Amino acid sequence: AHVDNPFEGASSYVNPDYSENVQTSIDRTDSPELRERMRTVQSYPTAVWLDRIAAIEGGEDNGGRLGLREHLDEALAQKGSGPITASFVIYDLPGRDCAALASNGELPLTQEGLRRYKNDYIDAITEVFQDPKYDDVRIVTVIEPDGLPNLVTNLDDPECAEAKSSGIQVEAVQYALDRFHEIPNVYTYMDFAHSGWLGWNNNLTDSVGLYTDVVRETEGGFASVDGFAINTANYTPTEEPFLNDPYGRVGGQQIRSSQFYEWNPNFDETDFAADLHSEFVARGWPSDIGTIIDTGRNGWGGPERPTRESSSNDLDTYVNESKVDRRAHRGLWCNASGAGMGQPPRANPSVSADAHLDAFVWIKPPGESDGSSEEIPNNEGKSPDPMCDPDYVAPEAGNNPTGALPDSPLAGHWFHDQFTMLVENAHPTV
Ligand code: BGC
Repeated sequence: AHVDNPFEGASSYVNPDYSENVQTSIDRTDSPELRERMRTVQSYPTAVWLDRIAAIEGGEDNGGRLGLREHLDEALAQKGSGPITASFVIYDLPGRDCAALASNGELPLTQEGLRRYKNDYIDAITEVFQDPKYDDVRIVTVIEPDGLPNLVTNLDDPECAEAKSSGIQVEAVQYALDRFHEIPNVYTYMDFAHSGWLGWNNNLTDSVGLYTDVVRETEGGFASVDGFAINTANYTPTEEPFLNDPYGRVGGQQIRSSQFYEWNPNFDETDFAADLHSEFVARGWPSDIGTIIDTGRNGWGGPERPTRESSSNDLDTYVNESKVDRRAHRGLWCNASGAGMGQPPRANPSVSADAHLDAFVWIKPPGESDGSSEEIPNNEGKSPDPMCDPDYVAPEAGNNPTGALPDSPLAGHWFHDQFTMLVENAHPTV
């Protein structure tokens, strides 16, 4: 049976490939205390990214990682007497990552790219998902991070404009929803970016409009979607504990009008989840849609974390001294320095009833890079991205330096220094 919240009452699949990567970092770490904390993380569930066609088969063509069947077999082996979830990120859109370079991907934005997406990617995944052998696994999918959001806010980028006007990416997403909807033990969460991106009222309204149109035209309609995944691979806090009222005033000005928030009234993912739930329901979606938050890297602990609300009367000083998100700008997305792991994965977190949260999940495996700034030859469609260069001052992020960690590997590759930092700055402490 298809339950409302797949995470409730279920254990979660721990990816052995991730545990192996963590082990390499444990082996490079001297401090017994830190090694112990890394071992704790090693036992946490993280999502598996099907980020290329070769990831379905796995093995040699995909860096020696497990293939999809092996993951599901392993999930069955890990399953006790109760249910288990196994989470997979569907991430191979034709013309992927249109507003950036780091994760450009393998499929071109053409009809041939779309054909391969359907036949070689989604159909191949569907064939495995629908094997009766896996009936007892609650298969959770996160559909195409950044895909539809780019089609709402990044149309000034010619590649994103083309992705939208060609209809290719919308058709690809609809195809995935249609195929997965046929399988009762598959649960779909559509990626819905994060509050620092879609939190403004106009962006939120426009996005909810697009998602509603896209999903209405699927075979199953709203029933093909279980909910939304927010903050995937991002660093936006679940809660800003010292900034509770975006409309409150400091020095006579609304807090949301500060440089950091740029009038965006959604400061954190919990408020954002509540807003998107009410917007979707107002558009006719069923009220049982739930949201999952990627809390893998949004903890922001460590020595820089504020411990109280600032008492300054200068708005920007007040915000900078109060916010736990230590980035210079919310548009900085690559290997953010100072970040830490957030809430450990768990079902039904009781932060706020309005947010309708199904779970905290670790979707982006903490320690896997967001991208590199140097050219590194590869066959994964990954390109150097200035947003991953600590020396780049980003006009698209308020002319701030990126704050990216130096010497990063390609997107998705293991980044020991980042992993160590994320463990050290975890909040709560792991
Ligand atoms: C990369 C993927 C990777 C994922 C998770 C993305 O940025 O493009 O290849 O699997 O991150 O680390």
